[in-house]
Amino acid sequence: MSLVVGVTGGIGSGKSTVAELLQAQGAAVIDTDHIAHELTAPGGVAIGAIVAAFGAEFINPQGAMDRVRMRQLAFSDNSAKSRLEQILHPLIRQQVEHQLRQAQGCYTLLLVPLLVETDAYRQLIDRTLVVDLPEEQQISRTMARSGLREAEVKAIMARQACRRDRLQSADDVVSNAADLKSLQQQLEALHQRYVALAREAKSNEHAADHL
Ligand code: ADP
Repeated sequence: MSLVVGVTGGIGSGKSTVAELLQAQGAAVIDTDHIAHELTAPGGVAIGAIVAAFGAEFINPQGAMDRVRMRQLAFSDNSAKSRLEQILHPLIRQQVEHQLRQAQGCYTLLLVPLLVETDAYRQLIDRTLVVDLPEEQQISRTMARSGLREAEVKAIMARQACRRDRLQSADDVVSNAADLKSLQQQLEALHQRYVALAREAKSNEHAADHL
């Protein structure tokens, strides 16, 4: 398998934006948030287990998990949160492994919001890219995007790693504190680096094949 880069950062830091920009240059993208949404969408693989564990009142009329209701429950009840995680995490992991086998890009980005907080993906990734920005900007961008109130964003951030811990576990960092042009410039350099690393990894694999 070619190079796999774990992309992480707090809520609203710009992970999806970074992934989109690198995908446009040829990276494959696997997004664990997107997978979680699919699993809990109408007809999603996790819906049956969610009904069994939480009751049909956590499913909306369209047949998807009622996200708002589940978020409220998970925030107030840690055991409910971990029950939901026990349903979703193995399914997400399975889907990630499947998508990694299928990935066609010159390297692969694996988006994991809580990469630093969990060990689950450590063996699957070769390096960690952190999307970084000051917390005030993180809050204002998240509020603008989601309509969440400041206190709600701060409550989510309180459950995530702090900026310093995240930066400490980074192999690579992009700053998303300025405009998109600045982000794009940093990503162009990073893309070249990842292409070179992926090539190196591939030639090492070939060399190993001939031992
Ligand atoms: P994440 O995936 O980490 O939650 P997003 O990529 O969705 O973050 O970015 C959060 C919000 O901030 C989005 O509305 C996005 O369009 C916006 N955004 C991202 N980067 C910038 C930037 N450099 N300048 C202004 N807005 C940005």
